[in-house]
Amino acid sequence: MSDSIFQDALTRVRTIGESAKVSPEVIESLMHPMRTMTASLPVRMDDGSTHYFTGYRCRYNNALGPTKGGIRFHPDVNLPEVQALALWMSIKCAVVGLPYGGGKGGVTVDPKKLSRMELERLSRSYVRQMADVISPERDIPAPDVYTNERIMGWMMDEYEAITRKKAPGVITGKPISLGGSLGRDDATGRGAYLCILELEQKHNWIPSDISVAVQGFGNGGYHAARLLHERGYKVVAISDSKGGIFSQNGFDVPSIYEEKQRSRQVRAVYCNHSVCEQVEHQILSNAELLELDVDILIPAALDGVIGKHNIDNIKANYIVEVANGPVLSDVDDILHEKGIHVIPDVLANAGGVTVSYFEWVQNRSGYAWELQDVHERLGKIMSKAFNDIWDLAKAEKRSMRNAAYTVAMRRIGQAIEAHGTRDYFNAD
Ligand code: NAD
Repeated sequence: MSDSIFQDALTRVRTIGESAKVSPEVIESLMHPMRTMTASLPVRMDDGSTHYFTGYRCRYNNALGPTKGGIRFHPDVNLPEVQALALWMSIKCAVVGLPYGGGKGGVTVDPKKLSRMELERLSRSYVRQMADVISPERDIPAPDVYTNERIMGWMMDEYEAITRKKAPGVITGKPISLGGSLGRDDATGRGAYLCILELEQKHNWIPSDISVAVQGFGNGGYHAARLLHERGYKVVAISDSKGGIFSQNGFDVPSIYEEKQRSRQVRAVYCNHSVCEQVEHQILSNAELLELDVDILIPAALDGVIGKHNIDNIKANYIVEVANGPVLSDVDDILHEKGIHVIPDVLANAGGVTVSYFEWVQNRSGYAWELQDVHERLGKIMSKAFNDIWDLAKAEKRSMRNAAYTVAMRRIGQAIEAHGTRDYFNAD
C-alpha cells in the first residue's frame, strides 16, 4: 500500500499537471524528491539494551523556500510514505502561498510501547542523525501523527545543544513557553473549519441542518469537530483507532473529548463537570463511519481510507480531508462524476502549516503575536486560498483537488521558470 501511495501521489501530479498544461520541466522536477535520508537511530531502552529504530527525512522540493513538514512516529512509517507526504507538503505550501517547499520525516515505531524516557531519547536520537539536514533556513520539522509539542521541545533542545546556539526557528509546534505560537494547537482543525465556513456561505447552509462524521479524534479531527459543534453543526459520528459512535441527533463534542481524556477511547456521553452520562448511540466501525449518509465526511486519521474498495458505498456530499491522502487518486474522477465534492488535504489541512509559518516568523523576529492576530491572519490566508481554488474550479470546470494542484504547480513553476527553462536557453 505505502509504495503505491507515493506512486499514487506522483500519478496525481503528472495527470493534473498535464491537464493544466503545466510546463513538462516543472512536472518532471516534481517527480524527483530532492534529498532523502534514511538513518538508524540508536536508543538506550529502559532495560539497558540498545534498540535501533529507522528514521527518515525527505526534503522534496525547495523551489519556493526552505522545506517544511512534520515528523510522524508510527509503526507503518516507511520511505515511500514519507516521500508522498513530503510531495503533498510541497503542493500544500504553494496552495496557501507560503514561502516554503515541502518536506517530511518519520520514525518506524509504535510510540505507545515506549516509556516516556525512551520516547525522549528516541526524539533526541532523531535530531542527532538529522542535524545536518534540518535548520531554520533549510528544513523545518513540525508535529504529525503521534508526535506532539513536548517532542518538538525535546528536538529543539537537542538541536540547540548540537549547534551551541538558540534556534527556536528550527522546529514548529513547540510549547508556547519554548517559543511556540498561540493558535498552533488547533490550527489544522481550524483551517478545515474555515473551509467549511466558506462552503456555508456559498450554499447558504443552516449549520443545525448539516450532519458531520469525523474519522479520527486527534489534533486535527477533534478541533474541527469542536469548532463545528460550537457553530451548531450536527456532529453525528466520531471515531478513533478503537472504533466509532453514531447518534442521529448529534453529540456534545466537548463531553466526548473530556471522557476520551479519561478513558482513552471515544464514548458516547454527555458530561456535566466531572459527571459523564452515557447517551443513546450506536457503535460503528471505522469502515462503517466512512459510508454514512452525511452532508460532510471528515477523514482525519489515516491515508488511503477511501478508494476502489469502498467508493460505491460513499454517500457524503462533501469530503473534507483533514488527514493527508485519505482519498486515493484512482477514485478522484469517480467522486467527481458522483457529484461528491472533495475539499482536498492540500487545502483543508493547510491551517497547521500556515500557523507553523507564523511561529517561524515570530521566532525569527523575536516578537510574539496575540491570538487574535494569528486567527485573523489564518482566516485571511485560508479564505484567499479557498476562493482562488473555488474560482478556478468553477471557471475551468475542475474538481477542487485538480484546481488546488493546478494553482500550486503554477506557483512552483513560476519559481522554477525564473531560473530559466529549456525554452529560455534555446531562444535566439
Ligand atoms: P493524532 O495523532 O493527534 O490523531 C490521530 C487520530 O487518529 C487519533 O484519534 C487516533 O486514535 C486515530 N486513529 C489512528 N488509527 C486509526 C484508525 N485505524 N482508524 C481510525 N482512527 C485512527 O494525529 P493528527 O495530528 O490529528 O493527524 C491526523 C491526520 O491529519 C494525519 O493524516 C496527519 O498527517 C494529518 N495532519 C495533521 C496536522 C497537524 O497539525 N496535526 C497537519 C496536517 C495534516
